[in-house]
Amino acid sequence: MESILILGGGAAGTAIGNKLARELRREIAKEEVEITILDKSDVFQNPGVFTFIPFDLYTKEDALKPRRKLLSPRVKCFFGEDGEVTKIDIGSREVAVKSGKKYSYDYLVVATGCRHDLNAVPGLSADYNSFYTLEGTLKLREKLKALKGGKIVIATPRMPISCPGAPGKFTVMLDDYLRHVRGVRENFEISFLWPVELIGPPAYNANISEIFDERGVEVSRNFKFASVDAGKKEVVSADGERIKYDLLVVAPPHRAAEALENSGMTDEKGWVPIERYTLQYQRGTKTYDEVYVAGDTGPAEILKTGIGTHYQAMVVAQNLINDITGVEAMAAYKGETGCPFVGEIYSDATKGVAFIPSWTYNRPPEPFKPSKLGWLVYRSYYYLYWEMNVKALM
Ligand SMILES: Cc1cc2nc3c(=O)[nH]c(=O)nc-3n(C[C@H](O)[C@H](O)[C@H](O)COP(=O)(O)OP(=O)(O)OC[C@H]3O[C@@H](n4cnc5c(N)ncnc54)[C@H](O)[C@@H]3O)c2cc1C
Repeated sequence: MESILILGGGAAGTAIGNKLARELRREIAKEEVEITILDKSDVFQNPGVFTFIPFDLYTKEDALKPRRKLLSPRVKCFFGEDGEVTKIDIGSREVAVKSGKKYSYDYLVVATGCRHDLNAVPGLSADYNSFYTLEGTLKLREKLKALKGGKIVIATPRMPISCPGAPGKFTVMLDDYLRHVRGVRENFEISFLWPVELIGPPAYNANISEIFDERGVEVSRNFKFASVDAGKKEVVSADGERIKYDLLVVAPPHRAAEALENSGMTDEKGWVPIERYTLQYQRGTKTYDEVYVAGDTGPAEILKTGIGTHYQAMVVAQNLINDITGVEAMAAYKGETGCPFVGEIYSDATKGVAFIPSWTYNRPPEPFKPSKLGWLVYRSYYYLYWEMNVKALM
C-alpha cells in the first residue's frame, strides 16, 4: 500500500485529492494506494469571493462549502484537531496533528496555503480592516455601508500576498460602489499605497494605472509601510511620512503555516522552498522527490494565485500518478498563472468590464483591454471554480 498524505484541503489539496482519486481508482479499490487529506477545518472557503462581498456582489454563503461534499468519497479525510498539522518530520516521513495523532506517508503534498502576520507591522492589529478574510470582509461591508465620507486608504505593506491583483480590484470596485451604487463618491478621497513600482506585470500595471488616473485614485508606489498610528489614524512610512485616513483597508503581510516554520521547512522569508518546475521540496542542495508543495505555500518568487495554484495542483497530481503507475514521465509547472482584472463593476450605470490575463515564468501577459465579455467570464468563473477546478475536471 502506497500512502499519499495531503496537508491542507483548500484549492490545491482538494483538486489534487480529486484527480488522484479519479485516476487511481483501480489502485485504491485494490488497496494498493491510499489518499488522505488533513485540514484544520471541515468548511472550504473560496477567498476569490471575499473581494466582492463588501459590494454585495457575493454573499457569505457564496464563499463556503462543506469540504466533504467537494471531495471524492475515495479520499480519506480528517478535519479539526485530527486534521490540524502541528509538525512534519521529513526524515521519518511522519506528520503530527493537534490531537496528538500521527500519520505516516510514502508521498507528501504540502498545500496549507498561507497565514496573515499582523505582527509584522507595528500598530496594524489596533486598527485592522481587511477583505482578506471572510470575517474581515463581512465587517468591511457594514463599515462601507455606514461611512458618510472621508479618506479611505487601501494599503499593501509588503509582498508577497495571495492574489496580488486583489487590492487593485478592490479599489476599482470601491470607487464604482461609492460612485454608482451609493452615489457619494464626491464625499471620499481614495488612496492606494503599494510596496513596489509596478502593480502586476507591465500590461496589468498599464491598465490599472490608467483607471486609477481617470478616477482620481491617488497612488503611492514603492511605499515603505512601517507602522500604523491607530490613535491618530495615520499610516507611517519608513521615511517618516504620515498619511491620515478615516478608513484603512489592508492586504496583510503573509507567510506560510506555523507548522511548517516549526518543522524547519521554511526559508528566511517564511515560505517553503521548491524546485520551481517539478514543485518538489528542496532543503539546501537536497531535493525530496517524495514531497511536493502546491499553492500559496511555495516560495515568494512564485506568484500566489488560485489560477497558478490550479496549474500546480494538476502537475503535482500527474507526477504522483506517473510515479505510482510506473510511467516514466515528469510533468513540469512552467509558471502558468493569471490574475483577474476588473475595469468596472456591473451596476445600473455601468456595464461591467474585466479580463483574465495569463502568463508563465518566461512569457509575460500581452497588452489587453477589459471587456463586457471578460466581466461575464469572470463572474462565470465562480461556478467553474466549484464545478470544475476543485473537482479537477479542467
Ligand atoms: C481576497 C482574495 C482574493 C483572491 N482572488 C483571487 C482571484 O480572483 N483569482 C485567483 O486566481 N486567485 C485569487 N486569490 C488567491 C487564491 O485564493 C489562492 O491563491 C488559493 O486559494 C491558494 O490555494 P491553496 O490551496 O494554496 O490555499 P488555500 O485555498 O488557502 O487552502 C489552504 C488550506 O490549508 C488549511 N490549513 C492551513 N494550515 C493548516 C494546518 N496547520 N493544518 C491543516 N490544515 C491547514 C486551510 O484550512 C486551508 O483549507 C485570492 C485570494 C484572496 C485572499
